[in-house]
Amino acid sequence: MSAPLCRVRLHLEHLRHNVALLRASGKPIMPVVKADAYGHGLADVAGVLREEGVDHLAVGSVAEAAELRRGGFDGVIVALLGVVTDEDIIAARTYRVVPLVHDRGGLERLAAAPAGTEALNVAVKCDTGMARLGFRVEDIPAVAEFLAATPGLRPVLLLSHLAVADTPEEDAFTREQAARFERAAAALRRVFPGVKLSLGNTACLLAFPELVGDLARPGLALYGSNPLHGTSRAILGAGLEPVMEVSAPILSVHPLRAGESLGYGRTYVAPTDRLVAVVGIGYADSYRRNPAPGTCMTVRGRRAPVIGRVAMQMTCLDISDVPDAAEVRPGEEAFILGGGGEAVTPQDLAGWWGTIPYEVTCLLGKNRTA
Ligand SMILES: *Cc1c(COP(=O)(O)O)cnc(C)c1O
Repeated sequence: MSAPLCRVRLHLEHLRHNVALLRASGKPIMPVVKADAYGHGLADVAGVLREEGVDHLAVGSVAEAAELRRGGFDGVIVALLGVVTDEDIIAARTYRVVPLVHDRGGLERLAAAPAGTEALNVAVKCDTGMARLGFRVEDIPAVAEFLAATPGLRPVLLLSHLAVADTPEEDAFTREQAARFERAAAALRRVFPGVKLSLGNTACLLAFPELVGDLARPGLALYGSNPLHGTSRAILGAGLEPVMEVSAPILSVHPLRAGESLGYGRTYVAPTDRLVAVVGIGYADSYRRNPAPGTCMTVRGRRAPVIGRVAMQMTCLDISDVPDAAEVRPGEEAFILGGGGEAVTPQDLAGWWGTIPYEVTCLLGKNRTA
């Protein structure tokens, strides 16, 4: 059992704010809540989204979809990873999940499974350039024919996923993917005119709202990060508010005199007299061990740099410059994400970790206790 000292809190009012921002485009959305809502917690996030009138959600596995249904979500649930096991097929029927089908084998397997009294709704995934899951565009007519001959399966959605919607220099490839998607859509709709289309993730919704299809699939922006950060289009994702806040208690406050070293490997030597706070989070809590120089937490609304090596359950900060530093006592919180004032965003931490904000919330979210 691991019992982290750190606390993960959700600003659900920020989730509502981000949903409103994304809806400003007027496009219907199918929020993506896979991987425990990017680490934020499926139940809490889905509850708020339902209150906000969301009636389509996308998860990863069928097991996640079943959990969402058991939690009371009554809308459409799409499982983006498709069916993997025979149990998944049974669960898809039991919990009215719309599984993705992305290859011939999966289609045949679903068709061969014991039919229910009603047809099973499925989402057809077509590959337009991501080369991950999906039928090739030229195979869609055959898929449509197969489905037409299989009354137990009813296609309700056609999906594809963009590889570089967050990269303006790659717009030509995004447009090529959109063109291929249109061809796939025409082929499927020739047989199933009612099928809805869904192409765009967050970056597409922000940068190319005209390409998203009938249902956009935003993930990242819901949780408050901007996939266009650092690009010429960053402004299109302005105003999003991070939902996750992570704090950990300060365990000790002590001076470090000029010339004294700190931590494993003695990688930090105090240039002048400093004040150190030892914080109860480390790499066992997915606070990565090798952050870039300049990595900070926030104490009393002011950024305090991480010094020395991050340990398994502890990290040291130089708090010399936080307001009334001499009054900081053990038990006070240091903020790994959030914290007001000079708050640390998932984007900041991603920069220091050499990764993307998606991974930051997925990792730190594993410390959630409720
Ligand atoms: C994760 C995912 C999304 C959401 O992408 P964001 O960049 O977080 O908006 C959309 N569609 C599929 C298929 C995904 O796997």
